[in-house]
Amino acid sequence: MARRPTIVLVGQALTFPWLFDAATRAGIDLVVVPKSGATVEDTREAAAKISSVVDVLPLTIDTDPAGALATLVERYRREPFDGIMACADRVVPFVAQAARVLGLVGLTEEAAAAVRDKRSMRRLLREAGLRTPDFVTLHDADQWADALRLQFPVVVKPANGYASLGVIRADNKDELQAAVERTWQLFSAHLDHGPAAVTDGGILIEEYLDGAEISVESLIHHGEVRVCGIAYKGELTGPYFEEVVFRVPAPLPAEVLASVEREVLAAHRAFGVTEGITHTELRLVGGTRPVLVETGARMGGSGTLHWLVQNGTGIDLAADALRIHIGQTPECWTRESKGTCFAASYSLSVGEGGRIARVRGLAEVQADPRVEYVVRTAGPGSVLKPYPDWTGYPAIVMSRHDSDAEAVAFHDYLARTLVVEYEPGELPAG
Ligand code: ADP
Ligand code: CA
Repeated sequence: MARRPTIVLVGQALTFPWLFDAATRAGIDLVVVPKSGATVEDTREAAAKISSVVDVLPLTIDTDPAGALATLVERYRREPFDGIMACADRVVPFVAQAARVLGLVGLTEEAAAAVRDKRSMRRLLREAGLRTPDFVTLHDADQWADALRLQFPVVVKPANGYASLGVIRADNKDELQAAVERTWQLFSAHLDHGPAAVTDGGILIEEYLDGAEISVESLIHHGEVRVCGIAYKGELTGPYFEEVVFRVPAPLPAEVLASVEREVLAAHRAFGVTEGITHTELRLVGGTRPVLVETGARMGGSGTLHWLVQNGTGIDLAADALRIHIGQTPECWTRESKGTCFAASYSLSVGEGGRIARVRGLAEVQADPRVEYVVRTAGPGSVLKPYPDWTGYPAIVMSRHDSDAEAVAFHDYLARTLVVEYEPGELPAG
């Protein structure tokens, strides 16, 4: 019997089912590389319950990338696989390098480095004549006054961050100085990944883009980019930028959607992204003008965006992403599709943070017929730090609705109903 196609997945959280279910639909086996911070034992235990996962392969990507590559090459010689796919921003450069060495579908290393660094994305957009806010890059927190030439408000962020960790809005000089210090401290604690760091770190300060936020999920095959779904994230005004809601399809006029699509396609060209799946965030300045915040060369929201796109547009985003990585034409290239509902997700806010005692209202929400999934990303006993630091979300609720207005009303209900209760006492240090 012919061997089933196999993909090595790097950086995927096993608590999110969608990519694993998609592999089953696409007839693809998965080898999982434990996520940074997860133990091999925990990964094996979780993987044993997922039918599409055939093996777990530990790799030392963070601590010894050359060793990790050697392990991967050795594995390929012994037991070939057909693709390798990055599921987290930080492994995108490693996966691009591995794909080149093994002759598999992937990004060029140049494109991988470009999308891993918010400074290079800004430069490339500007060079391509696309909209981008004015920005300043810092290599030392003491240089914060360099940013005084920008127009307030500004946003301070790590150049290679994720999850809005250390992303802070500043409205004046004093706030700017304080934000740079705080971001620098968080950056040093979380993001300075030693030998695996592809950037030299540093901080980006850019002018604030005033407008609602959206995210765009795209597939790219042989250089052709397709926008598969546009999600509405609402008004996020800061000073910290915790993501709370996504709604697909986005309630926007056709001409705005068309201009979003043009901007996203042009950005992919500017970054040189020619294969795979991407998650792009933009703001609609003045309500209509799309300006890119960033592009990640991976599936959005660990797969939550797959679920939203599949329900809201009918495109099997995750299965098609897997197909692209083994060199197959994605099904949505040739098949028309249609959404079956207004799909929504809601991440429960961390609030003041602490050690989780319980989440109130969860049982009631779980029993609601509109709710399809409640993903517990951090259970009782877990310690969550408040923004602008980040350790995770308590839970995510995925739901289906008959209209966008119903989805909005449902999210208002969730905001009233779900409350994270923390154990009394100080937030543990560290
Ligand atoms: P991360 O990699 O941490 O997600 P982002 O650059 O995406 O970093 O910033 C996180 C969030 O901060 C964005 O989703 C957006 O809401 C907000 N943000 C970032 N840059 C800007 C900006 N220039 N103007 C307005 N909001 C911004
Ligand atoms: Ca982001």
